[in-house]
Amino acid sequence: MLPLKEKDKPLVQKLLSAGCCARCVLRFCCIGVQAAYRQPYQDILKEIQAFISDEENNKPQDAAVADPTVDPPSKKMKLDVAEADGQSEGDASAHLVTSQQSDPEAEESHVCVACLGILQEYSGRSHAVKVSEAVKKENYKFDTMVLSVSLPAQLCVREHSLWLHVKKEVRQKSMALDKDDVAQVKEAFKWVMQGLVARELGGVAVFTKSAFEIGVEFTHPETDADCHFLAGACPDCFKPTKTKQSVFTRMAVVKALEKITDAKFLKHYPCPPARPSTKCSHQDIQCLHASVFVAGRYNKFCRSLPQTPWVIDGERRMESSVEELIGTPLLSAFRANGFNFSSSGREDVDVRTLGNGRPFAVELLNPHQSRLTKVEMKQLQQTVNESTEKIRVRDLQIVTREDMGRLKEGEEEKTKQYTALVWTQKAIAKEDITFIDDIKELTIDQKTPLRVLHRRVLAVRQRVIHNMSTRFIDPHHFHLGLKTQAGTYIKEFVHGDFGRTKPNMCQLLETDTDILELDVESVDVDWPPAIPE
Ligand code: ZN
Repeated sequence: MLPLKEKDKPLVQKLLSAGCCARCVLRFCCIGVQAAYRQPYQDILKEIQAFISDEENNKPQDAAVADPTVDPPSKKMKLDVAEADGQSEGDASAHLVTSQQSDPEAEESHVCVACLGILQEYSGRSHAVKVSEAVKKENYKFDTMVLSVSLPAQLCVREHSLWLHVKKEVRQKSMALDKDDVAQVKEAFKWVMQGLVARELGGVAVFTKSAFEIGVEFTHPETDADCHFLAGACPDCFKPTKTKQSVFTRMAVVKALEKITDAKFLKHYPCPPARPSTKCSHQDIQCLHASVFVAGRYNKFCRSLPQTPWVIDGERRMESSVEELIGTPLLSAFRANGFNFSSSGREDVDVRTLGNGRPFAVELLNPHQSRLTKVEMKQLQQTVNESTEKIRVRDLQIVTREDMGRLKEGEEEKTKQYTALVWTQKAIAKEDITFIDDIKELTIDQKTPLRVLHRRVLAVRQRVIHNMSTRFIDPHHFHLGLKTQAGTYIKEFVHGDFGRTKPNMCQLLETDTDILELDVESVDVDWPPAIPE
């Protein structure tokens, strides 16, 4: 039984006369019981038909027509009801036969004036099968889902017109009708369709917040112009933007409808809305899975490998990059559409990263496969490591979006350890450099290095070198170990950057010095958690 009340009868008749479908009748009667919408369309229609027929049976026909507060049920409405029903039984169909013969507009469309067919033609099992077939083709792995629905913006205009149309009726019956009490087309569609689609997909759970979203989009070119009068009435609401194709976005239309007075609206737009001759068109199903995040640590053993693809003036300078060597195998394992790579700091193209490696994370966009077991992750790590000699990853694991913040967290406060191969112009003896081992907590001022000046703002940054250690090699070379605050430019500390870093190694040793090789020995960020081998 539909939860319609006796007092709803005039409203139901008015809605049907205006050309509403059965489910839109329920919506404008403010019915929020989802089960009512889920019944097959024909069943709802039959019940509404019976509901109205009761009224006619109980009243002498003359009286019904004479009652000024009740619109006589239109011939057309009965035609819709009976035809859609597909049967010829009962009182209403008897009316149908006569009206069909006498009504010159009998061939007129039966597409709902409010939902443009969405709750009639597109809300049922057969359509759920179509949606689920399209989803299956995409070959996603998921166990929960949510439907997202995109409707043509003019539906709001039609809804507003219909609401004004019935508001008067309701007022006369001293019933309150708030626009917010009317269930939205989008909601009603989801009430009917989510469960049906989920069942067709093999019984996945429907979550309001699911990582897997099935996007359903409707358009209705025939009535696109319905919104246009609003631009004249509320020009403020429709400002062109670069990103949107049309200024008539749903948001803008809703805003304009909130502003416009009833009188002004009624002057420009028919009430009830005109009957459409076509139903909405259904666009391609768009599936989207929320990003999956994978974190780990990488070593880089190669002195000719940039961290990110190195492209100058559209031309590639190096054949590979850390992010591609890691990202590409991940992309194919998760069958994602793309990825974003980020890391805790970065090393120069000629710098190696040794020790435990540098923490990194990869966001995998629209992954078709989102769940890998720990064993599968281990296999994936192995695949990455076997694909190249240039890098190696460890601690590869799936993390949450929230965890991602930890990668950049304290990037400046953390310490890093390096080893540099230093050249000296003046010949040195082992004893000449040992004093460096005793220098602790050396504060240096670094003016933005010349080599990064094109991408970083000019400033003087103070950094701390916590300690250093030396290892003599020959009269012109030694190894310098450093533990520094993150963000220290090591190369500049060694060669001085034309005096832009002070103090520097040239000043300490009173000779020209240069850095020949640099290795990152450790990045002291305790994330992601280590995974035992
Ligand atoms: Zn409808």
